[in-house]
Amino acid sequence: MTDVRLLGAADIRRLAGELDVTPTKKLGQNFVVDANTVRKIVHTARVAPAERVVEIGPGLGSLTLAILEQGASVTAVEIDSRLASRLAQTAAEQGVPSGQLTVVEHDAMTIAELPGDPEVLVANLPYNVSVPVLLHFMQTFPSLSRGVVMVQAEVGERLAASPGSKIYGSPSAKAAWYGSWRLVGTVSRQVFWPVPNVDSVLVGFERSAEPLGSVAEREATFRIIDLAFQQRRKMLRQALSRELGGSAASASEILEAAGVEPTARGESLDVHAFRRIAQAAGRAD
Ligand code: SAM
Repeated sequence: MTDVRLLGAADIRRLAGELDVTPTKKLGQNFVVDANTVRKIVHTARVAPAERVVEIGPGLGSLTLAILEQGASVTAVEIDSRLASRLAQTAAEQGVPSGQLTVVEHDAMTIAELPGDPEVLVANLPYNVSVPVLLHFMQTFPSLSRGVVMVQAEVGERLAASPGSKIYGSPSAKAAWYGSWRLVGTVSRQVFWPVPNVDSVLVGFERSAEPLGSVAEREATFRIIDLAFQQRRKMLRQALSRELGGSAASASEILEAAGVEPTARGESLDVHAFRRIAQAAGRAD
């Protein structure tokens, strides 16, 4: 642990006032104003000294400082230029040794390169884009082997859901392509400024040792997943009929070749079954 002073509620208000920042819903700006919460996130993520961490949406720096306090190095990706441009100064003022923090002003949805191959993702994600941002990071940065993110409760439950559950859907199946996901904590609304009107949870993930398949296989599998959940009440032979040969009969044949019941629905299939369908359809070559 290094001697870093974390931010409290008064610091957050002062910094926001100084930067003339009024938190916006559009950018999902709910800042954590409680040091115990950010320490809990970092502890749950098992951040160790000298680890390379990437944070999405550092905001005014609450969580960033708690990661830096562990002696890890942080690359922080922030879209809001006022917040991005103040972060290095905040870190220096709060006692972070220089060189430990790199700030990248960029949209996390489209960023294609990060310095230093980060191993761990830790973030309080902007709620409106949390799933696409997570999937983009898993896809684009294979060096990421684990992480903990704070998301809206419904989203977290969905990411961690297993086939057969009511909330299992396209985000659950796609996230499972990359590894295992589970709920690892809850966070009170009262630790944010402004207080959001949704509950938050912490979700942890571990990337699988080996990728499930090639990029082409992943894209083909994700297409099948999207189609299956666009019409989630329909049997797969119906929902996939256009994609798999143009009729329910041709779709049934391909589904059977993949070892999947043609009358099943997408909500009962795990990511491996979706992958087998893409393979049987010859889409994953
Ligand atoms: N980490 C800070 C904290 O815990 O107090 C702020 C978290 S706040 C929920 C989300 C942050 O993500 C905001 O700072 C917002 O400006 C930033 N953000 C929103 N959309 C973004 C995007 N597409 N790319 C990068 N940052 C984004």
